[in-house]
Amino acid sequence: MRMKSEYTDKVTPLRPRPQIVARAEHNISRDAISENALKVLYRLKNAGYQSCLVGGSVRDLLLGREPKDFDVATNAHPEQVRELFRNCRLIGRRFRLAHVRFGAEVIEVSTFRAAHHVSDLDGRIVRDNVYGSIDDDVWRRDFTANALFYNIDDFSVVDYVGGLADIRAGLIRLIGDPEQRYREDPVRLLRAVRFAVKLGFRIHPETERPIRELAPLLEAIPSARLFEEFLKLFLSGCAVQTFEALRHHDLFGALFPETEVVLGREENGFPQTLVIHALRDTDQRLAESRPVTPGFLLAAMLWPQMHSLAGDHVARGLGEFEAVELAADAVISRQVARTAIPRRFTQMAREIWQFQPRLMRGAGRRPQRLLSHPRFRAAYDFLLLRNRAGENLRDACEWWTTAQKDAPATEVESEAAESPARPRRRRRRSGRRGNTT
Ligand code: ATP
Ligand code: MG
Repeated sequence: MRMKSEYTDKVTPLRPRPQIVARAEHNISRDAISENALKVLYRLKNAGYQSCLVGGSVRDLLLGREPKDFDVATNAHPEQVRELFRNCRLIGRRFRLAHVRFGAEVIEVSTFRAAHHVSDLDGRIVRDNVYGSIDDDVWRRDFTANALFYNIDDFSVVDYVGGLADIRAGLIRLIGDPEQRYREDPVRLLRAVRFAVKLGFRIHPETERPIRELAPLLEAIPSARLFEEFLKLFLSGCAVQTFEALRHHDLFGALFPETEVVLGREENGFPQTLVIHALRDTDQRLAESRPVTPGFLLAAMLWPQMHSLAGDHVARGLGEFEAVELAADAVISRQVARTAIPRRFTQMAREIWQFQPRLMRGAGRRPQRLLSHPRFRAAYDFLLLRNRAGENLRDACEWWTTAQKDAPATEVESEAAESPARPRRRRRRSGRRGNTT
């Protein structure tokens, strides 16, 4: 087999011979690999290329977990991959990749990369499109547990970095010099914490040591990338633990600087718990396969500062609606500078907030109007959340709980309205550009 013979004479300290674990000695079965991923792997192999499953899917299969998605690595160049698959699109500039689409499933196919990336003055990688072989590629991966290859040619697992041993020991360990690897790409700081929590692993002491000190490097990461990371951190089912681990490592402030400040202050002698409650609900909903949306979480993350700013505006004589509108503008625009939250989610947060004073006013007048509003359900859930977090809103909560029971079923919008997949109902307001505000 080509892959094996290639390594036998390349034993240098930097490029040790990989450990090749034969099919009989590991637990990855093809039954657990998605059919589409297998199709991609075999078609590449049959066209004469090396093709391996790589990254999180190999790690998860070894752990007996169901992989979230399947990534393939190959020595075929992106254009060569495209020639093999009609359902293929090339994406990315910093990393040029092929996406092979099968209905809802996308198999990401990346070409082995060499170490010759282009870095900026801070050591950050800005371009990374020099192709190489598998034994170049492995060293660019982040953690040992993420750097295993499953070779479709003989169903072996190829391990250059001690990833198998680290998986067995439950360790998240950066490949190479941790500080240098964090400087190359500071998002690895967040990834270390995310994987440790998600897998129930410990972060290796040397991988952990530089985290706090290097946390400020995250300020230079583009806001769109931080938003992607935010989704992975908080909408994967272990949001509470992830939040706590991020705070422990001084990383949460990189994502939500103002929330971090608020969390450090006590409210009437009690710690702020709204965020924790919202995260716990999110985890709970995911566990029950109910829909979740970043908009709701955002509303919770930014609530204390929005609420307090709106209170200042009211004290200066503004009406409640206008006060919330102004305060929302301010906190949202500062937050999207850090995490580029798409407008449909910021809009949802605004609507949830605007609803809060209306829910407080009891609803003497026409509660049906509010009950049938598409945002009612989320706003009501938010009211319950505030109550649980200590805002003492029991009367309003009970009032609306009863009102819903009394209302004809059709008037209360179903929970599906909270699904992020819901088509947008609002148009962009004129005068605003870009997809974030
Ligand atoms: P998940 O279960 O969250 O998808 P994953 O390990 O598959 O986890 P991805 O972000 O999908 O993570 O990336 C796939 C693989 O690409 C990783 O396992 C890792 O080998 C490599 N990789 C991804 N991001 C980085 C990075 N910032 N630095 C180095 N290698 C990375
Ligand atoms: Mg993945």
